[in-house]
Amino acid sequence: MSIEFSGGMADDERIVSSRQIKEDEAENSLRPKTMGEYIGQEKVKENLSVFIEAARLRGEPLDHTLLYGPPGLGKTTLANIIANEMGVSIRITSGPAIEKPGDLAALLTNLSENDILFIDEIHRLNRSVEEILYPAMEDYALDIIIGKGPSARSIRLDLPRFTLIGATTRAGQLTSPLRDRFGVMLRLELYSPEELEKIVTRSAGILGVHSRYDGALEIARRSRGTPRLANRLLRRVRDFAQVKADGMITRETADMALKALEIDALGLDNIDRRMLRSIILNYNGGPVGLETLAATIGEEAITLETAYEPYLMQIGFLNRTPRGRCVTLRAYEHLKMEPADGQQHL
Ligand code: ADP
Repeated sequence: MSIEFSGGMADDERIVSSRQIKEDEAENSLRPKTMGEYIGQEKVKENLSVFIEAARLRGEPLDHTLLYGPPGLGKTTLANIIANEMGVSIRITSGPAIEKPGDLAALLTNLSENDILFIDEIHRLNRSVEEILYPAMEDYALDIIIGKGPSARSIRLDLPRFTLIGATTRAGQLTSPLRDRFGVMLRLELYSPEELEKIVTRSAGILGVHSRYDGALEIARRSRGTPRLANRLLRRVRDFAQVKADGMITRETADMALKALEIDALGLDNIDRRMLRSIILNYNGGPVGLETLAATIGEEAITLETAYEPYLMQIGFLNRTPRGRCVTLRAYEHLKMEPADGQQHL
């Protein structure tokens, strides 16, 4: 038996996408501004606070820092907070936005001493741009070639001492010369429901929405460990609460709204469920290679890997094994499906 898929749905069309989608544009107002307001990621915060304090005492810029982890976990937010705590300015750009070496040179020469340059999706920098970064990060210098052919010569410009903060969803995709130039590498983890409850309650306060603890927790449980999604679901539930209830977000209103959005008790949407069912029905629960699975469900392998799998693995529904992806017994139970006879599942 096989499952038909009617074309892939782009990840950024899913309400449960962890990437920024159109309706998140207002998310700036919800961004915490200080380390104290930034909920969770205790280990990362602890380490960063020490590095920030030490750099401030020495009057030096913070070491170049790489933040990595799935989208929507607070990398951009953290970069802004670091700038705030260091008392310096931050310039924000992204890998794909820097097309030519000259674009990066212009950004670098416009920085002031100790400033932060934040490059989101840094794994997507093109090679010729990336090569400008090496001497910039290591020696605060920019090598410029003047002229062409035999008369070409290289001159070296001094840059202000700055901090590069890179963010990536895929640390493994960074070239090693770039990765080696980061003094600090911090991995952000998916958030627990308790941490997300605090984020939902905080955001509700900023949005002026009345929410009860059980309502905020219900949203948190279905937010796939991701603050961006928690905030998005909060806004959707608020709409339901205002139209169908008396404006108060309770467990019941949250449940009603999320059911209507076809998001189940664990935050899975139709696409997650179809992916898991496909592994079960087409590949007997796995193992199935990532590329094969991607082709079967009409998605790109990279989307599966960065957008779907982290959460499915966190809740113990999917395992990555050397031979491919396997569905676990818990996933069978959640989908109310039975493993075939003789199938062994973790
Ligand atoms: P990323 O850069 O990792 O994709 P962002 O920094 O843009 O993620 O975060 C997405 C949204 O989630 C932000 O607007 C912010 O409101 C919220 N957020 C992220 N991390 C936290 C946190 N630790 N505490 C509270 N809100 C957070």
